[in-house]
Order: sequence, then C-alpha cells, then structure tokens
Amino acid sequence: MAAAELESPWVVDTRELVRRPGSMRELSRTVSAPERIGTDVIAIQADHTVEMELRLESVVEGVLVTGTVQAEASGLCVRCLDDVGETLEVFFQELFAYPERASHHSAVAASHKGGKDQQTDEEEQHVLDGDLMDLEEIVRDAVVTALPFQPVCQDDCPGLCSECGARLADDPDHHHDVIDPRWSALASLSVPTDDDEKKRN
Ligand SMILES: [Zn+2]
Ligand SMILES: [Zn+2]
Repeated sequence: MAAAELESPWVVDTRELVRRPGSMRELSRTVSAPERIGTDVIAIQADHTVEMELRLESVVEGVLVTGTVQAEASGLCVRCLDDVGETLEVFFQELFAYPERASHHSAVAASHKGGKDQQTDEEEQHVLDGDLMDLEEIVRDAVVTALPFQPVCQDDCPGLCSECGARLADDPDHHHDVIDPRWSALASLSVPTDDDEKKRN
C-alpha cells in the first residue's frame, strides 16, 4: 500500500472487508475538493465541501461501493452569465474488483446494477489497489453527469440584449430603436443554440 495514495481524500481503505464476502461497512466522509469538479459552465469549485455517505460491501468479486455525494455547485447562466448555484445530491454504485477478477467485472457490475448501466462497463474497470479504493474518478463522473448541460439562473431567463449586452431580466422593457430593419432580422438569428452542449466532455 502506497502511503501517498492514502493521502488522497478520495481513497478509502477497505482492509477490514477484503476477502470477507458478506461483511459490510458504512462511513461518512467530508472532503475538501482538491480541484474543481464539473464542466466549463458549472462545477463544484476547488476547496468546496463534498459530503460522501458510503456503504462498502464485500462480495466474492471484490468490494461494492454504494454512495451519495452532496455538494454545492456553482457556475454561470449560459444565457445571461449571471451566477447560478445548485445543490447536488448524486448517487453512485460501483464494484471494485480484485485484480484477478477484473476481467469478469463487466458482467458482475451489470448484474449488481440490474443491468441498467451497461454502456459504461466497457470503459470503466475499477480494480482494488491492494486494500485501497480510489473514488475520485467515480465521484467526478457522477457529478459531471448530474450537472445541468446548460445551467440557467431561472427557467425563463431572457438572456442578454443582442445589441448592447444588457441583462434583459433586469430590464424587461429594454429595447433599441433599430434604424435599419434588416438589423432586427439579423438579431432574431442570434438565439442561443445547443452547439455549446456538444463541446462538453
Ligand atoms: Zn440568466
Ligand atoms: Zn440593449
């Protein structure tokens, strides 16, 4: 066991469970996010508190972890760039296989999840490192998946004025006298699209 790995807040020691199918342990852990977790537009910011409730179950193939992550995420409204905040509560469940069992992991994980999440099993093989389970990637994936693609400050946020950049929610009657009518036709084309969403990942 490498001492350095134990220093990561995401690493959990499963010593008392390893090779003891049927044994179970529950724990709570509060982590200060070492770096931001999220997307370009919204994230749990670095140093913010992440609360984890974990249940570790020893199974024949390894150790199954079931958990929830709670944290405050913050970012910017994609329409008006105002601050947005979101309270996250994210569920996850993963099997950490013993190294010699890792090749069987996909089938086992699928059965533990009721076969719900099979598309991710090919790429994700979580293996115990000695007695240690590193939750960082799982927490990161679960949080990113739970965050809104396009956070908005309010569902009907009208965004920014396409001509001067003013925040329209602050000034609903805002308008400009358009001199050339062709400009107003152009302005109606500058509606936000879903293209930004595809750049995610
Ligand atoms: Zn907004
Ligand atoms: Zn304006």
